Amino acid sequence: MIHLCPVCNGFAALQQACTACGQPLQDAGRLSDFYGDYSPYQEIDNAKMDNGYMDGLRHQCIHTGWCPSCQTEQAVVLAEWTPAILVTDMEKDAYQ
Ligand SMILES: [Zn+2]
Ligand SMILES: [Zn+2]
Repeated sequence: MIHLCPVCNGFAALQQACTACGQPLQDAGRLSDFYGDYSPYQEIDNAKMDNGYMDGLRHQCIHTGWCPSCQTEQAVVLAEWTPAILVTDMEKDAYQ
């Protein structure tokens, strides 16, 4: 079963308040983006696949939120979705 992060896939904006000051955090990207040296497009695809396997049991996508007020980064854990329409095609790809 493939799960998609709504923020990574553009379905929703990151909505998380800074734990220190309460300002809305800016989405600084997935945490895993910092560990790759891929091109932007490959990065997105690979991150999605990596997430499907590595975080398959938790169905969570960990983003880095940036508070412009505190100038700090905070991990934001997002629950992933399973869009029914996409599941069939994506699972087919995953098993090729
Ligand atoms: Zn995500
Ligand atoms: Zn803050």
